[in-house]
Amino acid sequence: MRRNNSEKKFKVSVFHKEFGDHFRHGHEEEYKKLYEKIISVCIKSNFDPTLFNIEKNFKNKIEKFGLDFKGSLLPPSSCEVLVEKKRDVLLIIKTGTRTSFVGQNIHIIFVAKDDYSVEKIIKSLEKIKDLKGLREGTYYDYISKTDFDEKLAKLSPQGKILDDKKNEEIFISLYELQNRDLVKQVKGMTGFPLTKDEIREKIKFDKKDELLKQLINKDIFSKTYRFQCKNCERTLYSMDFKIREDAQKALESGSFICPNNKCRAKQQAATIAEVFFPTEMALRVSGGSWLEKLVDLELKKYTPNVWSCRVFENDEFDNVFVFRDKTTVVECKDTSFGQKDLYNTIVKARNIEANKIIVVTTENLHNNVSMQIKKVNENEEDIKITVINGSEEEIIKKIGFFFERVNRDYVSGLFESRYLRSYSPTRYLRRR
Ligand SMILES: [Zn+2]
Repeated sequence: MRRNNSEKKFKVSVFHKEFGDHFRHGHEEEYKKLYEKIISVCIKSNFDPTLFNIEKNFKNKIEKFGLDFKGSLLPPSSCEVLVEKKRDVLLIIKTGTRTSFVGQNIHIIFVAKDDYSVEKIIKSLEKIKDLKGLREGTYYDYISKTDFDEKLAKLSPQGKILDDKKNEEIFISLYELQNRDLVKQVKGMTGFPLTKDEIREKIKFDKKDELLKQLINKDIFSKTYRFQCKNCERTLYSMDFKIREDAQKALESGSFICPNNKCRAKQQAATIAEVFFPTEMALRVSGGSWLEKLVDLELKKYTPNVWSCRVFENDEFDNVFVFRDKTTVVECKDTSFGQKDLYNTIVKARNIEANKIIVVTTENLHNNVSMQIKKVNENEEDIKITVINGSEEEIIKKIGFFFERVNRDYVSGLFESRYLRSYSPTRYLRRR
C-alpha cells in the first residue's frame, strides 16, 4: 500500500453527540439553527467554510490530509467541510443519516496534526448549548454495542482466567517487566527449578536482582527451599520447604542421597538451595492467553467496544470489536497460523456478521496462507483480512496502524458517500 508522508502526519479524531426528541426528522429548522452556530464558531476559530465552493480545487485541498480515495471524489452534500489554514486542520461536520434511529446525531470529525488544535476547537464548540457533552467515538458504534453485549455475553474458559483481577495483574507485570520470554523459557524446564544465578543469567536487563525480587513479589515466580547436592548441584525435587530453617532441620534429621544416578553423593554433600519456579498462573498466562490480553488492552485504547475471550454458539472469539461502524474479529495465535485456522476464522467472523478479520500471530505466515488471504481479500466482498505479526512491540505498533487506516477509510468514505442529504448548511447560509 502506498504510504506518503502526510499519512503519518495526520490523525483522525471523531466526536459525536446524540440528540433527543427535538431534533427528530421534520425539525430541519432546528438543525439549521445549530449549524449556523457551529459554522460561526468555526469561522471565529479561523476555519474557512468556503472550501465547499471551490469544487475545482476541492480534491487537491483535501488530498493533502493523507486521505485515500478509491472512487471519484465529490464535495459531500451530507457534510460540511472546513479547513483551518494555519494549523492544517480539516473539519467535517456530519449529521446522522440513518432514518431508522429515533434520535438524530451529529459527528464532528477532525483530521489534524496535533491534539492541541482539536482540543481547542472542541472547547469552543462545547460552549454551544446543544453540543454540550460531545463524546469521542461514533454514534453508530454505540448501537452495535448493545447487540454484541448480548451476543457475546459468555466468557470462554480462557476469558474467565483473564477476567480474574489477580491474573490480570500477573499479565500486566509480565508485560511491564518484559519477561514473558523468561517465563516461557522456564516453562520448558518444568520440574527443574532455577537457582537465583540461573534466572539472573536469563534476565536480559540491568538491575537483575531488583527485577528478580519484583518477579517474586508479583507472583510470577515462587521461591522454595530444597536439598541440593554440592557435588553435582542437582536438587531433590520430592521435598519443598517454604522456610529455610525447616529445610535445614529436615536435612539434619534425615539422610540424603543425591538423586542423580551418576553422582549418588551422600549426606555430607547436601546443602540447602534457594530455588525458583514460575507460578502455575504465570505459566498459563505466558503460555498463550497473554496475546489475547495484550490485544484486548491495546484495542481498548482506540474503542470501548471490545469483547475478549467470548463464546457465541459453538465459536470461541479471542477478541471482537466495533469501530467506525465495522465489526472486526481478531484471531490470536502464539504459534503459527495455518490454512485450517484461516478457514475457521472466516466462518466464525461470518457467524457474527463481522466485516473484518485481524490475524495476530507471533510467527511468520506460511506462504500458502498468505496467498489464501490475498485471494480472500481480492475475491470476497464481505470480509477483509489484515495480518499483524511480530514481537509485542511490533504487534502494538501495527494495531495502531490498523486503526489509523480504518479512520482514514472512514473519512475518505464520507467524500464518496452514497447517503446524500439534500440539505447543505453553508449553501443555506450563503443564500441569506
Ligand atoms: Zn550429586
